Order: sequence, then C-alpha cells, then structure tokens
Amino acid sequence: MSDDGAITTLAGIGPARATALKQLGIHTRRDLLEYFPHRYQLEMSERPIVELAPDIIQNARGEVTAVDYIASYPRARFEATLQDDSGSLGLVWFNGGYLRRQIHPGKQLRVKGKVRFFRNMPQMTNPKWEVIDDQTPAIEQSTFKPVYPASAKLPSDTIAKVVQEHLEELVVLVEEWFDEPLLKSRNLLPRREAYKRIHAPASHRDAALARKRLVFDELMLLQIGLGLSRRLRDGRLSAPILRIDKTLDERIRSRFPFQMTGAQTHAAYQIAKDLQQRQPMNRLLQGDVGSGKTVVALYAMLMAVANKLQAAMLAPTEVLAEQHFLTMSRLLEGSSVKIERYTGRSKRASKDPLKALANGEVHIAVGTQALIQKDIEFANLGLVVIDEQHKLGVQQRSILKNKGYAPHYLVMTATPIPRTLALSYFADFDVTTIDELPPGRQPITTKYVRTNMAPAAYEFLRKQVQTGRQAYVVVPQIEESEIEDTASVKKKYEELAGKLLLGLRLAMLHGKMPADERDQIMRAFRAGDIDVLVATTVIEVGIDVPNSTVIVIESAERFGLSQLHQLRGRVGRGEHLSHCILISDAVNEEAVARLTAMTQTTSGFDIAEQDLKLRGPGQFFGTRQHGLPELKLADISQEIELLKIARDDANALLESDPDLRRPAHQHLRAALIERFGDSIPLANVG
Ligand code: ADP
Ligand code: MG
Repeated sequence: MSDDGAITTLAGIGPARATALKQLGIHTRRDLLEYFPHRYQLEMSERPIVELAPDIIQNARGEVTAVDYIASYPRARFEATLQDDSGSLGLVWFNGGYLRRQIHPGKQLRVKGKVRFFRNMPQMTNPKWEVIDDQTPAIEQSTFKPVYPASAKLPSDTIAKVVQEHLEELVVLVEEWFDEPLLKSRNLLPRREAYKRIHAPASHRDAALARKRLVFDELMLLQIGLGLSRRLRDGRLSAPILRIDKTLDERIRSRFPFQMTGAQTHAAYQIAKDLQQRQPMNRLLQGDVGSGKTVVALYAMLMAVANKLQAAMLAPTEVLAEQHFLTMSRLLEGSSVKIERYTGRSKRASKDPLKALANGEVHIAVGTQALIQKDIEFANLGLVVIDEQHKLGVQQRSILKNKGYAPHYLVMTATPIPRTLALSYFADFDVTTIDELPPGRQPITTKYVRTNMAPAAYEFLRKQVQTGRQAYVVVPQIEESEIEDTASVKKKYEELAGKLLLGLRLAMLHGKMPADERDQIMRAFRAGDIDVLVATTVIEVGIDVPNSTVIVIESAERFGLSQLHQLRGRVGRGEHLSHCILISDAVNEEAVARLTAMTQTTSGFDIAEQDLKLRGPGQFFGTRQHGLPELKLADISQEIELLKIARDDANALLESDPDLRRPAHQHLRAALIERFGDSIPLANVG
C-alpha cells in the first residue's frame, strides 16, 4: 500500500467530515480502508407483513391505520398500527411524543427494525421510519451491512456510506503480498479482495474469509519481521565465547547455600551452552514466583566473571535492585568477585563507581534503568540479565545491545508467557522454563474476604508473628486524590499500629521514601527486626524474605491478576505454610472473577492465561512498550492455530526467498521495511 493521501483527497469529504473522521483516528485513505467493521448486520429486503420473521432487521411498508399516545406508566410511548394487504404490524416508539405531529392515519410509511411477537401480533420497537408513496421503489435486496465503531458525530451508517462510496478507489492501494501457491494452500482470498469483502461482504461466511486473510497477513508480517530481525542480530553481532568446565561448575555451585533443583540445573546448563557460542544468547528464563531464578542468573554471571567479563543485572525497581545487590553480596562474601549497585539515588560502596565499571574493577553491576543510561561505560560487558522483563521496555534493551559489542542476554520473568504470545511477540527468544519449586515448599492458601472480616484476618496475622513469622500488608499506591476512598499506606499503618496490630513491630515502605531509608527498612525486615511491613506495590516483584508467611492485600480489587499473583509470591518462599488474604468489598463482576480466580489456582501459567483473556495482550504485556507492531484485527489470545500456520509459512517463505527479492514479494518487502525499518536487514539492500 503506497499511495497514502490525506482523507480530504477523496471526493465529497469536506473539512467537517474530515474532522469527524480524524476524531476516529482516520487521517489518510489508508486509515479509512483499515478502519474495519467490528460486526455485521443482516437487513432483509422489503416483504409483506405476514412474512416478517423475528429477530432479524426487517423492512416493511404499509398504511398507518391508527395512532395512540400513552403518556403514562411505565413509560410514555407513541403507538401506531401499520397495515398492508397481508396483515398488520404494531409500532411502538418510547418517549415518542414528538411523533404525534408527524405520523397520522392514512400516511404510508416504510419501517425498519427487529420484529417481536406480542400476543401473536408482530411488533417493532423504535423502528426507523420514512414517509413514502406508491412510487417509492421497494428495497428488493437483502443487505449484509458492516457495523463500524462509531462516534456521536459519525454514526456507523455514515462511515459505511463513505467507505462504500470510495471502496473501489481505496482498494487500489492494496497490493498482493504472497504468491499464488501460498494463497491456494491456505485457502486465502487475494489481498485486495479481502479488503473489499471485509467492508462489503455478502454473508457472514464471506466476512469471515476476508477477516481470515487479513489476520493471516498481520501475523505473517509480524513473524517475517521477527525472523528477519533475528537474522540481523545473529549475523551482525557476535558475542564472546565463554568457557566452563567441571571445576568451575563446582566452584560456582559451592557458592549457593543449597543444592540447585533439577530444573535449575537444567536451566543453568542450557544457559551455559548458549554462552559457549559466538552467537549472542537471547534466552527467556521463565519460572513461577519463588522458583529460584536468581541463582540461575548468578550462575551465568559468575561464569562470565570467571571468563574475565563483566555482567550486569537490571531490575524493574530500585527496591528489587537493592535486594539483588544484597543477596548476591552475601553469596559472594569472601570471594574476589566485586559487585556494585547502580541504583538511582543510593550511596555506593566504591568512590567512583562509574569509573570502576569502565576500567573493569567492578565485575557485577546491579541496577535499574540508571545502569543503562547512555553515558555509562563498561570495560567488557559479556552478559546482561534482566529480571522481570515485563516491566522493562524494548528501548532499554536496544541501548544495551547497540553499544557496539554484543553481550549475551538473559531475560527472566515470573509472568509466564502464554503460548500464543510466546509464538508471536517472543518468537525471537529461546525459552527455558523452571517448572519445579525448591524442595519443601507448601502451596500457599488464599482467602478472599470482605472488610468486615479484616479484624479476623489481622488476628490471624498476629498469631503467625507470635510463632516467629513475618508478614506483609499491601495497600494500593498513595495518590493524593485517592486517599478518600482507598487505604493509604500511612493511614493503614497508623490504624494497624494503634489497634489491630498493637504491640507488633511495624514499618512502612513505599516508593516515595528516599532510597536510603527504604534500604534500611528492607535490611531490618530481612534481619527479622521488623515483624510487619505495611507497603505499596514496591514489594510487588522479587522481594525475597523466606520467613514471611502472611500477606494481606487491602482493596485487592485494585490490583490486576498478574500483580496479585506477584504479590502473593512474596510469601511461600520458605519451608513454612503460607497464607494470602485478599480483602475487598468490590461488587464489580470482573473484579470478583479476578479475586475468585486467585483462590482457585496458584499456578502462574493459569493466572497469565486468565489475565490475558481478561485484559487482552496489549494491556497484559504493554505491546506498545514492546516496540512491535500492534495488531488491528488479530486477537492473539484466540488465534493460536493461525499463528502457528503463519509462523511455519513465514519460516518457509524466508527460507525460499531470504531477502524477499522475488517479484511476487516486492510489496511484502515494502510493507516490512515500512513497519520494521532498520531493525530488519532489508532497508539497505537494493
Ligand atoms: P524467583 O524465581 O521468584 O526470583 P528467587 O530466586 O528469589 O525466586 O528464589 C526464591 C527463594 O528460594 C529464595 O529465598 C532462594 O534463596 C530460595 N531457593 C532458590 N533455589 C533454591 C533451592 N534449590 N533450594 C532451596 N531454596 C532455594
Ligand atoms: Mg526474582
């Protein structure tokens, strides 16, 4: 699709209509062509009243034989009877007082609407109507009409009219992407035909065929784009080859205070294998909360350090970065490995940490985004680990990748990637799954209660603390405007300290505290000097204090499903039986469904699938943040079969025509360049 003229270049689109279209995001001809109907509606040809069938939009004509206006209970309504040779049809317009001046007995009307039978009489409620006469031609064709997402200024019918009027002219923009054999083998319409039919289908089947073709195209574009960018990466970048042998393996493992689980060992070996290649590793390590990803990452980082390379670990929050720093410092105590943290505001151990990074004194750098700001220089970065990737954007990743050398790259997430996303957005990652929890873990019990049960919940928490355990209380974020209707940390803290948890050692933790203070509190909590942490979601990811066995989540309806799962993952990290209590008075159906789902499963995979269903992939993963094209038609959570087909076909296509030089692919090629630009190796080739 090349010609991309402004919408005003179409005949009959003046400034007013153009403005209304712009409000719907339609600026160009192509936007209009790609403004797809979200459903279709069948409207029947005109027929005698006796033949009107229920529940379909029908057209009928006749003479008005009686009218009535009922001003009272239950609602004011204007009624009329319409008669033709075959029978009579009741018409009702609620609040139709104004019709008294417009519809009179003796007038001929054509009406359009759905028919219901009321005491055996066909009836239309709020039908569309027009005055006609004997000369008015009948509507002879049943039509299958597209229904567009509309605005008050621009109803669906108007959009449909604009599209229909210009459809022939618009589809000229559409060029074929694939060759005949592929279309045949997948039973796909030609591309131009699909655009035509999605706007003007003859039937539901027709519309479905059109949609299938266009969804296929979206998925193919994504898959081919990913395939090409992967090739670019693999071809252009080379990473340092790391070595490992039995001695080093044992030395690294001996740093850990426990035996790695089978799943951890397997993951570590898979990573070690990647690191021995010249091709940069691009691996996604997924494992449910508490499955022990950190030591696997540390294993890889120590392998890098043993090979005289630096490693960097990026966390999504300062609190988590600080924790990783502390955990790893502890594990590395007494070794020659130098670890440093690069969080936004905290104090550093070394005098000039940036210099220490640039001259290679620091072996392992832990930080947040601050670590990858452009002025930061590494002496010889060999491995980047990104923890809880779904919190980080693609941009940050590319900065690290594009520093002229190519580090190996490990991404960790506790939010498992649903199969469909793994096949699409994550197609360029190799995936390792830790599917086993460290030994001795017991499933977390989850309860969902109303606020009137809060005292009992806190009593339970108190009992746990009295047996030596620790606990979290989570409240939604502090936001000035919301203090009224939600428990703020401060308020909750004071309330608990003064009453329900009187006598326990409480502390507050939230994102607006200075880093040093936060740090101090986390240290004290980890050391067991604080019993209960009243916190915002700053503790959402990664916080690891195995002695904590209770988490109470206030106003739980305010959190998303994956977020709740992450929060729950703060407990159940040790040998003790752990508990999660969700407090909420929400009546909203979706919220109740979410909270109920939490009580029914502790599997991150189930939760992620549910969440994807409830929120869609964009929300779920922030696809925009992910830097990949948004899909207009394809609903990735529903399209697994087509997604697989597209992946296979994309691979086959790239194999047979790696640079898309075949004439049949010239338009596909142009579309790819337009969408992916420099991130695929096509832009500069002929
Ligand atoms: P996550 O995968 O959520 O990042 P962590 O790496 O924070 O999990 O590990 C969770 C807890 O389990 C930590 O306290 C860690 O020390 C502990 N752990 C990890 N691996 C093992 C193991 N093999 N045996 C016993 N405890 C382990
Ligand atoms: Mg973690």
